Amino acid sequence: MGAKKKDKIITMACTECQERNYTTTKNKKNTTGRLELKKYCSRCNLHQTHRETK
Ligand SMILES: [Zn+2]
Repeated sequence: MGAKKKDKIITMACTECQERNYTTTKNKKNTTGRLELKKYCSRCNLHQTHRETK
């Protein structure tokens, strides 16, 4: 596992169906607020906005 201690693993969930499709890492020092990414959702079969979840 190459993630450094500073990087927190977060889960990205589709804002439409709440399916958790992606994980990523973020550095708390460099990132403020909630991440949002436009990603493909296999459940919606569309590109949807994915938002950071707990
Ligand atoms: Zn979805």
